[in-house]
Amino acid sequence: MTIGVLALQGAFIEHRKMLDTLNVTSFEIRKKEDLTKSFDGLIIPGGESTTIGKLLNDLDMMNTIREHINNGMPVFGTCAGMILLARNIVNSDNQYLATMDISVQRNAYGRQLGSFNTEASFGDIANLPMTFIRAPYINDVGGAVKVLSRVNGHIVAAQQGKQLVTSFHPELTGNTAVHRHFINIVEAD
Ligand code: GLN
Repeated sequence: MTIGVLALQGAFIEHRKMLDTLNVTSFEIRKKEDLTKSFDGLIIPGGESTTIGKLLNDLDMMNTIREHINNGMPVFGTCAGMILLARNIVNSDNQYLATMDISVQRNAYGRQLGSFNTEASFGDIANLPMTFIRAPYINDVGGAVKVLSRVNGHIVAAQQGKQLVTSFHPELTGNTAVHRHFINIVEAD
């Protein structure tokens, strides 16, 4: 199994370290030609969704990645990655990959509570540590979307088929559960 990690901006190195820990091979996707390589799943990291979105357009990668996902490529988006996958962003006119039937709010926790750590359940897993950094949350989900985590009543992790998203940064906690969940999705593919 090989996972491609989008490496235009943001916390891609931390995702690769997590995959190393799980003995999963990964490589960095930096340009359109990298998308012609063979890989079984894609990770879109946290960072700044406007920057990553602009680079995806400028480097002519947006449509190819969207096609991969629409053709069934498993994808895991964290934080900015979740925003890039969302069908709708309530506080922005931008739309990016828009493959997942979720409506998200950028910087939803405001400036005062920009970053925080907490613990909540993730699917069947109790007490998962979660790190939030100027995070979005999900306001609304379509019928095909399964909610995996809520924090203070807000949805912070969800899955639609082979698309997995988290508001938080599991690559920064040292807990591999969310990455293992994604690898299981890829393995079942
Ligand atoms: N605030 C960022 C955005 O809107 C997301 C933050 C993150 O990925 N840590 O894109």
